[in-house]
Amino acid sequence: MPASSPIATVKCPACKKPVPWQPDQPYKPFCSERCRLIDLGEWIMEEKRIPGESAEDFDRETPQNWH
Ligand SMILES: [Zn+2]
Repeated sequence: MPASSPIATVKCPACKKPVPWQPDQPYKPFCSERCRLIDLGEWIMEEKRIPGESAEDFDRETPQNWH
């Protein structure tokens, strides 16, 4: 392997910033815990938004528009 290989980077799925792909990057592929939680939160919201199902357990008010 070439000794001078550049550090691989990935794009943070939440904010699209380049993130160094390193073993000590605890939030990869995200750049930070904040972005990881944002993405996770959106994913959970998608899961809950199932058409046709009862919305009884979705009685909390939707937080301010995230998008
Ligand atoms: Zn990010």
